[in-house]
Amino acid sequence: MTGKVWLVGAGPGDPGLLTLKGARALARCDTLVYDYLASPAIVSLAPPDCEKIYVGKKAGAHTFSQDEITALLVRLGREGKRVVRLKGGDVFVFARGGEEAEALAAAGVPFEIVPGITSAIAAPAYAGIPVTHREHNTAFTVATGHEDPTKGYTSLDFGKLANRKATTIFLMAMGNLAGIVAELRAHGLDGDTPVAIVHEGTKPSQRVLTATLDTIVDEVARTEIGAPAIVVIGDVVREREHIRWFDTQPLFGKRVLVTRPAHQADDFSQRLWEMGAEPILAPTIAIGPPDDPTAAREAIARVRDYAWIVFTSRNGVDACFDALGERGRDARAFGDTKLAAIGPKTAEALAARGLRADLIPPTYVNEAVATELLARTAPGDRVLLYRAQQARDVLPDTLREHDRTVDDVAAYRTRFVDDSDLAEKTARADIITFTSSSTVRGFLHNLPNAAELLREKTVAAIGPITAQTARDAGIRVDLVAEEFTVDGLLDALTTTTV
Ligand code: SAH
Repeated sequence: MTGKVWLVGAGPGDPGLLTLKGARALARCDTLVYDYLASPAIVSLAPPDCEKIYVGKKAGAHTFSQDEITALLVRLGREGKRVVRLKGGDVFVFARGGEEAEALAAAGVPFEIVPGITSAIAAPAYAGIPVTHREHNTAFTVATGHEDPTKGYTSLDFGKLANRKATTIFLMAMGNLAGIVAELRAHGLDGDTPVAIVHEGTKPSQRVLTATLDTIVDEVARTEIGAPAIVVIGDVVREREHIRWFDTQPLFGKRVLVTRPAHQADDFSQRLWEMGAEPILAPTIAIGPPDDPTAAREAIARVRDYAWIVFTSRNGVDACFDALGERGRDARAFGDTKLAAIGPKTAEALAARGLRADLIPPTYVNEAVATELLARTAPGDRVLLYRAQQARDVLPDTLREHDRTVDDVAAYRTRFVDDSDLAEKTARADIITFTSSSTVRGFLHNLPNAAELLREKTVAAIGPITAQTARDAGIRVDLVAEEFTVDGLLDALTTTTV
């Protein structure tokens, strides 16, 4: 049995720049072979049981030689594995994918090439520099700066590159920058030709330096900008003045601690990446079964007896369908029973099961659910609250005060996640987000001295209840979302200078 090897380009850093085909290959692989340019967010797309082999190549610190990597790919393929060989940027652009593919072809191991977005184009793009522009150039050259032109042989034709209309993009050039600049000057390129250096392009850590051929070497020394970086030389660099976009976003470069449960963090992280921020995943709570599931199970056995069922989170919906599934039932079990969702995300979770929420209150808190439900029910009506074990009493209390018959069942329980790295992650973050009171408590569970640790940080809460839980623990809260959703939280973060 022979396996197959996918040579996959991971893109330049922003995990959103991985191709769909690359993501599919990753999601189905048995073994992942990757190096240092691959973003952890992309590595995490591999299945949890996938074997991950780091062959990290960083200048000076080779973990595996190229021959060893090639031999490894051939061996894994022959063992019948589905292997993804993940490379930063594109697989062929100065990445030795050619040699790896040749070895696989020679060994008769089937393979596919999944090209990636090369940093040669993407890093300039994220710096607001188009690699071609009608006003400036009709060609661009991507070259390696690895060869030192002052030390004898170089295959580069500096005579051709010394043309400000011709745009040269160097990779791996930081070590030899002075030599490259000298060579271009010697071949007649104007000293005032614009040059840009894009360090860690497309990432929240992106830094861009613009100068001219005459000043760039001194500027690099002054700003201590280093590898990995792309060097762009030519008039196209001037476009950055007009179309700079990535590093001007309000959250650009901010590190944001995401404390919500891992299974709910994807969307939030994705949005943060899109805004140029770096999410630091630190789930302080996880969702699990309640201490005693009996009441929840019994309620599910007679869902049709209720006039209304109230879901106050996506977790409640998930737990409900798990319980229905155990009984061999599905969404048809609800019959005419009406469904309330506390907010749009909970309603979406219902919609994903083919159910339309009959009620979403104007504000996404328990008090509003109570008000709206009272308006739609009569005394004696049966209401099922299918929610967290530790939920607040305001909803059942209000309904009962008005003579509704309420079954308040524990459908799931949030438990604290122990994270021995939380202090270190917190120290690295600029902004701390709390998306429920439980996330605050989970944080305090790990770091009882939170108030002190967070003094210098921006603390953002999804709503007033969460904010109050934090304040009760002495934590200063800087921002509270106006709409109590993750999007509302992001809005609050982007409209406030943090
Ligand atoms: N196959 C990769 C290039 C590998 S060579 C690609 O297509 O992008 C490694 C060099 O790529 C680095 O020295 C640096 O010059 C460049 N590079 C890779 N990722 C980069 C990034 N995010 N920002 C700037 N330069 C990057």
